[in-house]
Amino acid sequence: MNKERIKLGSANKMADSASDKDEKAMGLFMSAPGSVLIRRGPELSLTFINDTALYQTGLTRADIIGKNIDDTLKKMNSSFDPALFRNVYKTGNPFSARAFHIRHDLQGKGEIADTWYDLVIEPIFDLEGRVDGVATFSHDVTELIKANNELLRKQNRFALIADAIPHKIWTSGPDGKATYYNKGWYDYTGASELEQLRQLIWGALHPDDLKPAMDTWEKALKNGEDVEIEQRFKRFDGAYLWHLTRVCACKDETGSVTMWVGSSTNIHEQKCAEEALRESEAQFKALTNSNSLLIWQTDEHGTTTFVNDTWRAYTGVEKDAIDKNEWLNNIHPDDRIHALQQFNDAFNARLLIHSKYRFLDVRTGQYRWMLDNAHPVFNPEFGGYIGSMTDIQEQEMAQLATNLLMEKKDEFLSIASHELKTPITSMKASLQILYKQGYMENMHWEKALPMITLANRQVNKLTHIVDDLLEVTGIQAGNIQLNKTSYVFIDSLKECIQQIEQQVPDYDIVVDNGTDAVITADRVRIEQVLGKLLSNAVKYSPNKPKIIVRVIADKKFLKCSVTDFGIGIPDDQQPFIFDRFFRVHGSSQNFAGLGLGLFIAAEVIKQHNGYIGFNSKENEGSTFWFSLPLSTK
Ligand code: ADP
Repeated sequence: MNKERIKLGSANKMADSASDKDEKAMGLFMSAPGSVLIRRGPELSLTFINDTALYQTGLTRADIIGKNIDDTLKKMNSSFDPALFRNVYKTGNPFSARAFHIRHDLQGKGEIADTWYDLVIEPIFDLEGRVDGVATFSHDVTELIKANNELLRKQNRFALIADAIPHKIWTSGPDGKATYYNKGWYDYTGASELEQLRQLIWGALHPDDLKPAMDTWEKALKNGEDVEIEQRFKRFDGAYLWHLTRVCACKDETGSVTMWVGSSTNIHEQKCAEEALRESEAQFKALTNSNSLLIWQTDEHGTTTFVNDTWRAYTGVEKDAIDKNEWLNNIHPDDRIHALQQFNDAFNARLLIHSKYRFLDVRTGQYRWMLDNAHPVFNPEFGGYIGSMTDIQEQEMAQLATNLLMEKKDEFLSIASHELKTPITSMKASLQILYKQGYMENMHWEKALPMITLANRQVNKLTHIVDDLLEVTGIQAGNIQLNKTSYVFIDSLKECIQQIEQQVPDYDIVVDNGTDAVITADRVRIEQVLGKLLSNAVKYSPNKPKIIVRVIADKKFLKCSVTDFGIGIPDDQQPFIFDRFFRVHGSSQNFAGLGLGLFIAAEVIKQHNGYIGFNSKENEGSTFWFSLPLSTK
């Protein structure tokens, strides 16, 4: 201060000489970039004003030179307090200030402007050391102050915004050292100042997230790259919450990082919801994959968006996306259009889907019957369908078999009634004639005999039918009783042939016998088998009256076959020939029968541990055979 005063003391002298009208000596101040004003005497009358100051006032020297402090300030429309000058004058103590705010009519434009000056008001001493005036030196810093204010305003605005948003924001220098954290960080961590937050921030990371975070940050610093990472930060209460952190590098025109700006957004709820969703999806998948139903789901447009593993295994579709109508490919071509129609109708009306079709199981190459049930999903808007397909192949087959059985039963009843009715009608007619003629005409025995024979034959037929029916019932109940004896098979065969020959004398029945083997069997039942094969050979070869019966034997078996040259059996019906009630469709309708003979014959042979079979060609004839184990002699 002393130094300054000494300096000003010399300025003082110069000012002094200026007041002695030597203005040229003031040239140094006159062209100075700052303002210089000198006021003298108790009135503080303006004696000097340099060009810079005069320019600021917009006045002429004539306007103000010689005027006292109050008048000059008034002329300048200045807010400067004259007491400041008076005080310096009075006390001899200088006054200095930085960025001193003054409002005045800048450059005489008639508008009061805000201006700021770094200024000093120094006392001027006369030769006796008394204060004789004040010199004002000032430097206009208005632009600087305005720029600073603007910067401050901007910084304040940024801080306000940063504190208002729900994200956590921070900045750091190019070296990565944090320079700023917004309020969100302080609130979240409980820290109260920058340094404290700097210290704790890495420790606030979840231990599992620390290493990835450090690696990512290191990479960002090294490469000057923006990065993004999900991480958990510890809250003031110890809870770890998930955040999405993004860090952006601010670079200058040379590409060097000048600052890092980071933001961390709380995504905990979203993360938990995602986790819950993932869990529930996993549960749903596990549930759907663990059962035998084929489960599917569509979106609101009808495109399949999900199928379970069972569905995939069935169809062989391995890819994730299922094309719009891909499910139709596996539907049996005969059911496809109907299934699609049903789906579309229900889908468009948002109704339950209830559909039945055959679906290809690619693992076996077989179509299987499926019941497809689905319902629309509203959440609350319509979101598509969820459906399940149940394999109902077994039920369908059972149903089909039941239907066939019912059909067969009806057919059997009609045949049985017909078969029973024919002999009864015939018997009735014979008995009526007998009665009428015997009673009314006193009929002779010779006349009555043919009637009685006819009636007897019909009774035999009826007995056969009823026997067969009883036999079948017995077989079904597992009640075949065998009464085995050892006998020469060919003897028994010949007796059977004789009986047949009596009934159909026109037929030529040739026996080609190569053995007199003895078998141990139920003779009555084996003769029953022979009778059925022989009578079938006769029945199904009208107009072809030749039958060949062959008997051969090896060490173990005796084989007997009956060959006719009749209607034969079509290939497609041969597999069913030994089935109960089976009769060849079409051809056998012309012949009486219940479809029980071969069934009974097969059962009898089976009971004897033998085999039965046949060869046949339609319209050429058939050979039915059976073999029986030979008894040891
Ligand atoms: P049915 O009483 O109808 O003759 P079977 O059980 O004896 O009953 O025979 C079953 C079916 O097998 C017959 O209806 C017939 O269609 C066919 N069949 C049996 N034997 C012969 C044969 N020798 N030639 C042609 N078809 C035969």
